[in-house]
Amino acid sequence: MNTVATKPLLLLAALVLLGTSACSTLRPPPAAEARPGRYDHMMNATIWYQRAPEARALYHQAFNIARAQLPALIAQGDNRPKAVIVDIDETMLSNAPFEAQEILEGRDYSDAFWRDWTQQARAQATPGAVEFSRFCEAQGVQVFYITNRAQEEHANTLRNLQAQGFAFARAENLLLREETSSKKDRRDKVAERFEVLLLLGDNLNDFADVFEARGDDWGAELVERYRHEFGKRFIILPNPMYGEWEYSLYGSHNRSDAEKSAARRNALQGFRPVSEAAPAP
Ligand SMILES: [Mg+2]
Repeated sequence: MNTVATKPLLLLAALVLLGTSACSTLRPPPAAEARPGRYDHMMNATIWYQRAPEARALYHQAFNIARAQLPALIAQGDNRPKAVIVDIDETMLSNAPFEAQEILEGRDYSDAFWRDWTQQARAQATPGAVEFSRFCEAQGVQVFYITNRAQEEHANTLRNLQAQGFAFARAENLLLREETSSKKDRRDKVAERFEVLLLLGDNLNDFADVFEARGDDWGAELVERYRHEFGKRFIILPNPMYGEWEYSLYGSHNRSDAEKSAARRNALQGFRPVSEAAPAP
């Protein structure tokens, strides 16, 4: 058995208590000082996200699927006004420069560090995201941005969405974190007035609260149970850099770098014991 979360509800509670900004929900408290190399394990994932054309293609693929679903969903719908719900970070905007900066400086997440980035309001739209928002607008479907960024980030987040040219980049369509990082209440609030046709996100928790308690298998069984929703009502975007899955990996916010490194090795599933896998002389 590896060091995965065995008490997902407790971990969720911890997440709620610790919840700060969108990225911070998975980050330990700030370290006293930067340590070069401490985030090198994130390098491949971040380079892939920033530079691999496959990552770009996956975004286009996801938004193309979302667009293809929409006309039929509108036609099948009831008389209520229509909406889609989207996450912001690593769904509509890319914070890869922030992740890259963490690696380059060997510097832990902190609210101040995160705000250094978000207050600049210069996160780029993910590939296809702006066009998707405008397609929704043309179809008469509102876009609601539900994010776990903090209320203090409201103005800068709105400014960033507007600068990138997103449709519905206005206060009434932007729902930031309130008391809890769970997005259920905010989704319900939108659903009181709109028929929600699609949900888009890079985190399973962006789709339904059932994914908030993932279990010992990291949520694999849940994904199988809801597999027919993916590419239908649930449109998932790629994010190998961070996510709720790290709770399953580390089981706590308070692991040392050495413990986290060991947890990563324990999580790998090889095909034979490492002692038998020594390189040939
Ligand atoms: Mg996100």
